[in-house]
Amino acid sequence: QQRVLSGIQPSGKLTLGNYIGAMKNFVALQHEHECFFMVVDLHAITVPQDPAALREQSEAVAALFIAAGLEPAQAAIFMQSHVPAHAELGWLLTTMTYMGELERMTQFKDKSEGKEAVGAGLFVYPSLMAADILLYKSDLVPVGDDQKQHLELTRDLAGRFNHRYGDTLVIPEPFIPKVGARIMSLDDASKKMSKSSPNAGSFITLLDTPDEIRKKISRAKTDLGREIVFDVQNKPEVSNLMTIYAQCSGLSIEQVQAAYDGQGYGAFKKDLAEVVVQALEPLQQKYADIRSSGEIHNILRDGAERASAVAEVTLHSVKDAMGFLPRG
Ligand code: ATP
Ligand code: MG
Repeated sequence: QQRVLSGIQPSGKLTLGNYIGAMKNFVALQHEHECFFMVVDLHAITVPQDPAALREQSEAVAALFIAAGLEPAQAAIFMQSHVPAHAELGWLLTTMTYMGELERMTQFKDKSEGKEAVGAGLFVYPSLMAADILLYKSDLVPVGDDQKQHLELTRDLAGRFNHRYGDTLVIPEPFIPKVGARIMSLDDASKKMSKSSPNAGSFITLLDTPDEIRKKISRAKTDLGREIVFDVQNKPEVSNLMTIYAQCSGLSIEQVQAAYDGQGYGAFKKDLAEVVVQALEPLQQKYADIRSSGEIHNILRDGAERASAVAEVTLHSVKDAMGFLPRG
């Protein structure tokens, strides 16, 4: 059975981008594979987080995993910080990562741009992400398109480790959806939708109320002209909205385009809002149930135990291969 691992940062409320680009695949993969899905709190602190907000968002993300359809019996669901091996292997791999490699990472460039104080953690974050993946000897890593570059670095680090110290780590493959791998911002289709954006109108969260969703979609940017056609080059804003429509309705992009032939943006946006509201309704109901049940703490405790058991074994073999003296 192949191993699958992925994570989502509790750096805000999960967006439709997180759902379409990553979480949908978590749910799809859980039955056929041995799965580990975590809330990556150690990653979230690479930018400043308010402690109370971090705690709340961490629990919210874990609950959304369940609400989206992950089953604790199928997949280990846990907090990254509950398994100390992540931080430890992260350090070991940081020492093997080249400055030049980190300097090339576009996410670092995007997230540090215009900031006067940038934490070193934001810079070395890709080494920790590599540790997350390699600890579980993961074969597949379901992520959105923006994580491709980090995955490539992870593969390089695994190869480098094996070359220097002997075959120890498994080289993982990215698992990226064909449609929806990069959902764009509602206010600017040249930027990806991000939960940590300061502009709440740029993203739709999985917990937005129907009215918030309607308002955000009605204000979403559109392109010149009025036709509903999928053309990423010339109509990036509308193409993004069509992708969201297709993903939330189960229709293909072609079917969406055919359905709105001859209609304008107004009618399309109105329907899109209802499609999104309907797609999120069952998830929101389940989310409310799981939060009020208090169940999430048990799920996370159990998940951390299962994850630790696997992670400790890999960490041990890594340290042994590198020449650390055993504690005895
Ligand atoms: P942040 O702004 O804090 O980085 P984020 O919205 O980018 O938050 P992450 O926790 O960094 O979310 O990423 C979680 C997963 O969601 C990753 O697999 C990532 O590739 C995917 N993802 C993030 N944004 C999008 C998007 N706009 N479209 C598709 N997938 C996305
Ligand atoms: Mg991100």
